[in-house]
Amino acid sequence: MRAYPKPIQIVVDAFTYLPGVGPKTALRFVFYLLKQPKGTIESMIRALQELQSSIQSCAICKTYTTAEICETCLDPRRDKTVICVVSQPRDIGTIDAAGFQGRYHVLGGTLSPIEGITPDTLEIASLIMRLADEPAVTELVLAFNPDIEGESTIMYLSKILKEKQLRLTRLARGLPVGSDLEFADEVTLGDALRRRWEI
Ligand SMILES: [Zn+2]
Repeated sequence: MRAYPKPIQIVVDAFTYLPGVGPKTALRFVFYLLKQPKGTIESMIRALQELQSSIQSCAICKTYTTAEICETCLDPRRDKTVICVVSQPRDIGTIDAAGFQGRYHVLGGTLSPIEGITPDTLEIASLIMRLADEPAVTELVLAFNPDIEGESTIMYLSKILKEKQLRLTRLARGLPVGSDLEFADEVTLGDALRRRWEI
């Protein structure tokens, strides 16, 4: 990339820090911002500062919250016997929209030794402590992406939680609505066949 004035280069570097943003996209963002009224950049700066100063991790489930304990953990209508363990805070909205009524625990990722994501970098110790504090919990739903990292995390958690009197469940695999049998992969179709149900 050709050299631009230093202030432009600094912001380009800052944007490329974001996932999925390369130098060209970053430069497009910078040129776009330079054309905006002065107040736009100022309100973005304020929003970013507010983000850093007001967002913290829920003391119980580790999702993002503005209070010490998040609304979901405080909600008395939630089922106290089931915890859905997810990788990222954004997964909570997705699973809630599917009708889950229990509470959550956010690990902050799934195991990937190559990327340096080992059990001690995830919220696994806090999950174990939480289970000791909450004897009402009888089931953990392990809801991760169906990839190698998700599978290793399920294997690791089922190994370390083996001794506990807990029902460990995972999301079923199946065929997406509107999909075509012909294009389904063998693992998904095999799972859908094994877990078929009565009509
Ligand atoms: Zn919470």
